[in-house]
Amino acid sequence: MSSSSVPPVGRLAPSPTGALHLGNVRTFMIAWLSVRSRGGTLRMRIEDIDHPKHKAGSDAEIPDILAWLGFDWDGPIVRQSERTGLYSGILNRLKPRLYPCYCSRADIVNAASAPHPGEILRYPGTCRDPATATPPHATDAVPAWRYALNPDETGRFTDRFCGPWTKSADSVTGDFVVARGTFPAYVLAVVADDIAMGMTEVIRGDDILPATTSQAVLYRALGATMPEFCHIPLVVGPDGRRLAKRHGDTRIAAYREAGITPGRILSALARSCGWLKADESVCSLAELLPRYTLGTVPREPFVWDDSLL
Ligand code: GLU
Repeated sequence: MSSSSVPPVGRLAPSPTGALHLGNVRTFMIAWLSVRSRGGTLRMRIEDIDHPKHKAGSDAEIPDILAWLGFDWDGPIVRQSERTGLYSGILNRLKPRLYPCYCSRADIVNAASAPHPGEILRYPGTCRDPATATPPHATDAVPAWRYALNPDETGRFTDRFCGPWTKSADSVTGDFVVARGTFPAYVLAVVADDIAMGMTEVIRGDDILPATTSQAVLYRALGATMPEFCHIPLVVGPDGRRLAKRHGDTRIAAYREAGITPGRILSALARSCGWLKADESVCSLAELLPRYTLGTVPREPFVWDDSLL
């Protein structure tokens, strides 16, 4: 069987950092259609490892709202907070490639050139060499564990939507953090999970595109096959900024409370992907299956405005 005829395995991986809004749903809709249109398996993973923006209650609300919209997934919901053993095992495997770093963000900003908006703060390698390493600021300070990149570990990959990603991991992140003390960084947890759950494709917002560089490095370091990545432009407000509270209430829960049906929300988002004409609508996700193609999804961020509903 050729790889393209093997049913895909994909996932919806929300972070419970707040209410689900239109931007998340548009990306999830593409992820759902991509997998379901080829008879694949779709998993739901709540990315709830300790996050400063974690909002109590949203880990229960997100699956509820997605189910209301008509999304389904296979198997039980997976929660990252219940998988710390998996992450420790991966951390141990990587240990020979890691070094401790005690630099604060300010230390890194002072030593490196400031990142442009949307860029990651590149680590200049200060602690890689014990001669220049930043000393711990307290005797009980917890180190960040950084992955020491080799020159051949470029992290380059080809994205299904964006095409070849040609920047190297060294230029994007430098030696990147995989854990703080024993606590896994997002990059480690997401790679560990996607390997363990057998993902063949990852569809998500293009705000994470640069961070995929370090994930590509980890797949290779762990001897695992990288899923196919597909990064979709975000939904923005009329001011061009990522959809947020300042643009009004674009929480799906708010539309539900206002009596807007799932079909109206899905239809508006499907029009934004070029699957429906201005005067067409659907009542369910399943009706979009024959229309689904990435070919009509605009390359630019999608500008939302409530009149589109
Ligand atoms: N949990 C991340 C988010 O909600 C997505 C990460 C991923 O899809 O790999 O932004």
